[in-house]
Amino acid sequence: MVVSHRANRVLSNKKEGVEKMPAELSQSKEHQGVWVFIEQVEGEIAPVSWELLGEGKKLANKLNTELAGVLLGDNVENFSSEIFAYGAEKLYLLENPALKEYRTEPYKDGLVNLISKYKPEIFLMGATTLGRDLSGAVATDLRTGLTADCTVLDINDKEKILDQTRPAFGGNIMATIWCKTRRPQMATVRPRVMAMPEKVEGRQGQIIKESINLIEEEIATKVLQFIKQEGAAVYLDKAEIIVAGGRGIGNKKNWDQLIEGLAKAVGGTVGATRAAVEAGWVPMTHQIGQTGQTVRPKVYFALGVSGAIQHLVGMDAADAIVAINSDPEAPIFNVANYGIVGDIFKIVPVLIEEFKKQLG
Ligand code: FAD
Repeated sequence: MVVSHRANRVLSNKKEGVEKMPAELSQSKEHQGVWVFIEQVEGEIAPVSWELLGEGKKLANKLNTELAGVLLGDNVENFSSEIFAYGAEKLYLLENPALKEYRTEPYKDGLVNLISKYKPEIFLMGATTLGRDLSGAVATDLRTGLTADCTVLDINDKEKILDQTRPAFGGNIMATIWCKTRRPQMATVRPRVMAMPEKVEGRQGQIIKESINLIEEEIATKVLQFIKQEGAAVYLDKAEIIVAGGRGIGNKKNWDQLIEGLAKAVGGTVGATRAAVEAGWVPMTHQIGQTGQTVRPKVYFALGVSGAIQHLVGMDAADAIVAINSDPEAPIFNVANYGIVGDIFKIVPVLIEEFKKQLG
């Protein structure tokens, strides 16, 4: 396929109105397969792509259809074996020098062309900075629905439609959203929400190579330079041990002593509730929850954290949750594997000393 990246402008002509949409984009049996966007930046694949391949496989099995990865970039075919190892049966590959670095317009045009041609039923992307930007642009061009930040995906047995579940109304309810009349059904999922699938080295798949005629001069955005912000990033999503504190910590001095102290003793990363961030004890980059990061560590310490739903949605997938709270009714105990009802100011210093002794 060789198409000008201007070709799909036809699809984005807002004056046409919904009733004049090209027939092939409305719901039909023509739309088959589950696609996962494989996010690649500077030669590295975002791990959420693998997590989504794992989730996509479950959906594809339920629909009795195939799972495909979609990869855009320049000279990126070398990732194909890893994409198949994580479960994709097919790989739609679009390579072009203009796709070397991410820019919304050419990536959007590339994806819209592929989707219009091959008509997947479901299209999943990571809710990363790139994914959040690109998914909205693609859905708008295709005039289909997009549910952002899903925490659960499933196939509705009766309707054979994608159940897209996410927190709504400030996190007080979980809403399941359907995209009944448009295709593909598009959803984004944050990193670490879904489990990592098994990697089976040597698994084979089919590569479908496509091309696109992108004219550099016609692309409005130019990438001049990448400047990495040193020290600003907090890799909570990759942390295996997180020590998180809440309002119960009381002040910045206690925070440094108890939260930073325990994190250091166990080799963990510091996390926080919104209340702790708003109190100014720790920067927003440490916030976990609905408006913070989603984490999936092996161990999560929740100290002086009540367990509000907006916090739980960001951490309840941790393998083991250790909660310390003076209130036996605190909702954090509903998700905790180990709970201590008591005063953090008495318990945490003892834990710090003991971990220092045990772990050196
Ligand atoms: P609190 O609820 O005040 O809990 C403090 C806990 O400390 C209490 O359970 C108390 O018993 C305990 N405690 C006090 N003293 C001691 C002691 N000496 N020893 C032991 N325990 C003690 N929150 C987030 O965390 N992340 C988000 O991303 C997020 N997003 C939000 C989005 C929206 C739209 C809204 C409306 C809210 C959001 N919130 C978020 C806020 C959330 O609703 C809660 O207000 C917040 O999580 C509460 O934080 P906390 O547990 O630190 O404080």
